[in-house]
Amino acid sequence: MESKYRIAIVGSGPSGFFTADNLLRLCQDCEIDMFEKYPDPFGLVRRGVAPDNPKIRSVTKAFDDIAKNDRFAYFGNVEVGVDISLVELMDYYHAVVLASGMETSQRLCIPGEDLPGSYTASSIVGWYNCHPVYSSLNVYFSGERAVIIGMGNVALDVARILLKHWSDLQSTDISSKALKDLELSKINTVYIVGRRGPTQVKFRENELLALEEIPDLDIVVSQEDLELNIASQSEMENSISIQRIYKWFLQFAQREIKHQKKLHFLFYRYPIRIIGNGGVEGIVFEKTQLVGEPFQQKAVGTGVVEKLDCDYVIASIGYRGNIIPGVPYDERSGTIPNIQGRVYDGQEIRKGLYVVGWAKRGPVGLIGHNKPDSAETAKCVLEDLPSLGTKEIRSREDLIRLLENKGIRYVTFEEWKKVDEMEIQLGTHVGKVRERFRSKFEILKFLEKM
Ligand code: NAP
Repeated sequence: MESKYRIAIVGSGPSGFFTADNLLRLCQDCEIDMFEKYPDPFGLVRRGVAPDNPKIRSVTKAFDDIAKNDRFAYFGNVEVGVDISLVELMDYYHAVVLASGMETSQRLCIPGEDLPGSYTASSIVGWYNCHPVYSSLNVYFSGERAVIIGMGNVALDVARILLKHWSDLQSTDISSKALKDLELSKINTVYIVGRRGPTQVKFRENELLALEEIPDLDIVVSQEDLELNIASQSEMENSISIQRIYKWFLQFAQREIKHQKKLHFLFYRYPIRIIGNGGVEGIVFEKTQLVGEPFQQKAVGTGVVEKLDCDYVIASIGYRGNIIPGVPYDERSGTIPNIQGRVYDGQEIRKGLYVVGWAKRGPVGLIGHNKPDSAETAKCVLEDLPSLGTKEIRSREDLIRLLENKGIRYVTFEEWKKVDEMEIQLGTHVGKVRERFRSKFEILKFLEKM
């Protein structure tokens, strides 16, 4: 039987799949078409989560179950805004939900950022996760010192991958190229540098402990950096998680330094310039102090400048969303402006257009945070469907015809499962959980041969 309502979801990460799940469960009268610009699904779960974190990746099993619903169809390798415009898409659906996420790193916007040896976290994460855009990134870690700017979970993921012995990553689904690059890597010192203090870090204790478990690694913190102003003391009193992390820092500060491999946490330093002649040779920081009320403290410069010699700089200071032509965009936050998930262009709600996930609320939260967020957006869609449902729209067959007429080689979920099986099979030959295809081209070539 034909469904009464047709809904498109743009993006196949966790927020897209959780939204599909809500809509399929709560409305038996709807069908979902999910669009993904890459052939392979799952967004940051596949391309963002670190390879030594398989537990987090296992959420894809739930997504596989959602995709089995016969009212669900997947169109991989179709980029909305490029292959098919938003205006075109609206002719085929009563509602369009943008779950397009954020995959571009924020930039530091300081001199020297474009020097060879200066990277964004998204390029490094993409390099070790076989992201189609970054899998071939030229990485020669022949120097010993890397500086990572930012104190979030991504910074700690990147530090862990750089500091672990390459053979401890060998059986994961890490990109084979990255594994080879890591085998040749000479990095033995990583500095993680924050513009604020030890009680303002954004990472979780779990991620800190994963670094603590690396053998032959000293974690170094200076006692001076652990001194807290009154507002920071008050923040700590009000947060058990901050207390736990701070206790670890106190321990690190008291430990004897005995290994060659080191991870330094440096606080109260704001990057102002990356220096080097033809490549990164160092970075200049301005020392900061914190001002403001507890939990709203900002770092302000003290005028004291300090240089740190290093070979690489990796900016891990958050993400921003890509602009989809025809969709409102807030330059400041990099999000799509909305009211509880209904897209808002500053004057009115854009009828039939919704947003969910990082594109809706910014690049914060773990995968699970997408559940309540998706429920909120799905609720808005369900409330509006009766009025949106009066619109004449085209069918899934019409959409397929449109894609074929445009010469777009879309990838179905069944085809993705073949890619998935092949990656696992290739992995078993080399002792890895999975050997990933390195590019969109490789995936499409494999599917052509099927
Ligand atoms: P994040 O948690 O927002 O951390 C960004 C860091 O960059 C903060 O320390 C921030 O400092 C700093 N920063 C921002 N702008 C800066 C600037 N101009 N100069 C210097 N420092 C700057 O971002 P993230 O690490 O990219 O993580 C994104 C989200 O993904 C988070 O919610 C995270 O928990 C999640 N994630 C989770 C996992 C996991 O569960 N294993 C793994 C990866 C990511 P301020 O605090 O001063 O702003």
